[in-house]
Amino acid sequence: TVRTRVAPSPTGDPHVGTAYIALFNRCFARQHGGQFILRIEDTDQVRSTAESEQAILDSLRWLGLDWDEGPDVGGPHAPYRQSERGDIYRQYAEQLVQAGHAFKCYRSAEELDTLRARIKESGENRALKPRDLELDEAEQSRRETEGAPYVIRMRVPEDGRCAIEDMLRGTVELDWALADAQVLLKSDGLPTYHLANVVDDHLMGITHVLRGEEWLNSAPKHKLLYEYFGWDMPVLCHMPLLRNPDKSKLSKRKNPTSINFYRRMGFLPEALVNYLGRMGWSMPDERERFSLSEMEAAFDINRVSLGGPVFDVEKLSWLNGQWLRDLSDEQFLQQLMGWAFNRDYVMQVLPHIKQRVETLSDVVDKAGFCFSGMLTISEQDFEHKQYSTEDMKEWLQFFLWSCEAQRSWNRDNLFADAKVLADALDVKIRDFLFPVFVAIAGTSASFSVVDSMGLLGADISRARLRHAVE
Ligand code: ATP
Ligand code: GLU
Repeated sequence: TVRTRVAPSPTGDPHVGTAYIALFNRCFARQHGGQFILRIEDTDQVRSTAESEQAILDSLRWLGLDWDEGPDVGGPHAPYRQSERGDIYRQYAEQLVQAGHAFKCYRSAEELDTLRARIKESGENRALKPRDLELDEAEQSRRETEGAPYVIRMRVPEDGRCAIEDMLRGTVELDWALADAQVLLKSDGLPTYHLANVVDDHLMGITHVLRGEEWLNSAPKHKLLYEYFGWDMPVLCHMPLLRNPDKSKLSKRKNPTSINFYRRMGFLPEALVNYLGRMGWSMPDERERFSLSEMEAAFDINRVSLGGPVFDVEKLSWLNGQWLRDLSDEQFLQQLMGWAFNRDYVMQVLPHIKQRVETLSDVVDKAGFCFSGMLTISEQDFEHKQYSTEDMKEWLQFFLWSCEAQRSWNRDNLFADAKVLADALDVKIRDFLFPVFVAIAGTSASFSVVDSMGLLGADISRARLRHAVE
């Protein structure tokens, strides 16, 4: 039976690219009556967080892309979180060393730099190979007895070509010269993506790997690992990457990439899934609107076209409008209440405006920005008695950077970030926050802007700041 998976790394906001890959894996599995699995690839201990994992699970579920096996629902191949499978990877890495397919590498970071520089100087277009790295026996055993830290690396061919079969691309040939002696197990005993991914796809019975094009260059190393272990390799399918309207790889500088942004903006999950389904794919009858179950029923991987699909927020908005128009008034109301017009959210907003209104109808004026998406602001809004718009946009850029780095989004942390910057720029905090008010609330005559940002959440706040510095 067909088994597919999506394998996100929980290192940041839930990415629309993850939803896109999940959608196609799920459709492929469903169409074949198979299973779709969610695996968390959190081998990067420094960058992975539990919050990010939760956000990925929540946002995929919000989109209706749920899974048959996964860290939260369990399954026959549990655990589905790589950080809980360390012993398995160590055992397989050891097996490769025993068989001579991998070796312990004691090279220090400095030595690696020198080795790489030497290859570069020689003008050879090739990666770091085992022969560059291996020490003579005496030195190897000296470091071994010393108990020096080491990594386990795989052996790779020096040259020749590796043929990769791809469902969409046919046979792709890649140069072995460019494949490095990949680290499989790091000095802390944790695996790299490559080892963990191959071992898990095998142990979890994955038959088809649909993933982003960015992994195509890793495929030769994966193929070799399957050969070393004597396992069958799943069928590979590298999907085209989502692009910005200017055709560059989708990036948050040019397009919001967090699923939560679209949720907070009031997009319907059905519309976002529908739009992602149109990224490089179309229904056999070319119709624009379709549901997830319609897509699953009609799915055919051969209808994926490789030209980079453009993720265009304007087109998505148009499609969302179509979905909204089709709701009954009752359903529309339900959606509206689920989005922001609900007791929970209104109760969070109220305390901030109660002191500032005279009639109930003032609420709309005072709190409208808490219920909007992007704001229309103009240059004049930034007019300040002392500072130029240029200066203030520079502050905004600095503040945006610290907001993007802020992992613990709350008013106190945001205020602390602003204070640090204002002090460093030698500007009064009041002045520093003026353009932030304009960006976030559309006016400086509003309640505390860090409170506003806390209410609006990271995604909308960052998008408004980004819009203001443009
Ligand atoms: P970075 O800014 O570090 O390049 P990123 O935007 O590529 O980050 P990641 O956190 O590396 O985002 O990726 C998250 C997930 O989204 C990965 O599974 C990745 O394959 C997928 N992804 C990222 N960018 C795209 C894209 N343009 N198209 C499709 N999938 C993508
Ligand atoms: N953890 C990888 C990612 O986030 C998975 C890539 C793969 O599907 O092999 O993109």
